[in-house]
Amino acid sequence: MTNTLTPTEFPNPDEFEPLDFLVVAPHPDDAEIGMGGTIMRMLDQGMRVGVLDLTSGEPTPHGSMETRIRETAAATSVMNLTWRGNAGLVNRALENTIEARIRIASYIRCLRPRWLFAPYYHDAHPDHLAATLLTEAARFQAKLSKTDMPGPRHHPERLYYYFCIHLRLAVQPAWIVDISEQWERKMEAVRAYESQMITGRPATPPTLIDRIRHEGEHWGRLINRTHGEPFDTKEPLALNSLRDLL
Ligand SMILES: [Zn+2]
Repeated sequence: MTNTLTPTEFPNPDEFEPLDFLVVAPHPDDAEIGMGGTIMRMLDQGMRVGVLDLTSGEPTPHGSMETRIRETAAATSVMNLTWRGNAGLVNRALENTIEARIRIASYIRCLRPRWLFAPYYHDAHPDHLAATLLTEAARFQAKLSKTDMPGPRHHPERLYYYFCIHLRLAVQPAWIVDISEQWERKMEAVRAYESQMITGRPATPPTLIDRIRHEGEHWGRLINRTHGEPFDTKEPLALNSLRDLL
């Protein structure tokens, strides 16, 4: 069996109401770990949020295509996402090629998100680094005219970075979202990936689940809340008002 999924069809832009946010993830589970709480908070506030997984995430030591598809569906239903698709690119071999860039740009044109989210740009995992470069390049590609890509020209206004990294970095995020209310549901979505989070992992503390919890508490503590998720931006933040700052 191949480790690549059939790419999700591009939504028809004439029928699909534009997304507010599109989160681009190298593997199914990265969006949940990095910003699952924020995704659900935005959905709770009535925004339209989608996730584009670039690869199947397989092979992994304890996963299989069937398991990963089932786990992704379970996490998607916990989060109640507006849209989720898979770009059908190759796990462990993700590269910033023109072909992959055009494919992601085509999703961007059909989904027309206002904002894009990509993995943070320092990481040990080559797929994550490639996903960041691909998202940056696809954002630009999506606004080009006179191309064969589906959908209208579209340029997401902002590109922000979420943290799902394989390095233990002492990062200084640009901002932190309060996800205290969404915390339990975030962990439910994360635990849906049992083959990645629990099976075969060392059971002595701190487990991988412990580590995700500690990080959520750490970021929450820095904003005087119980749980938070950090983000980064290369461009200055543009605020409408100071009213929503905690
Ligand atoms: Zn990943």
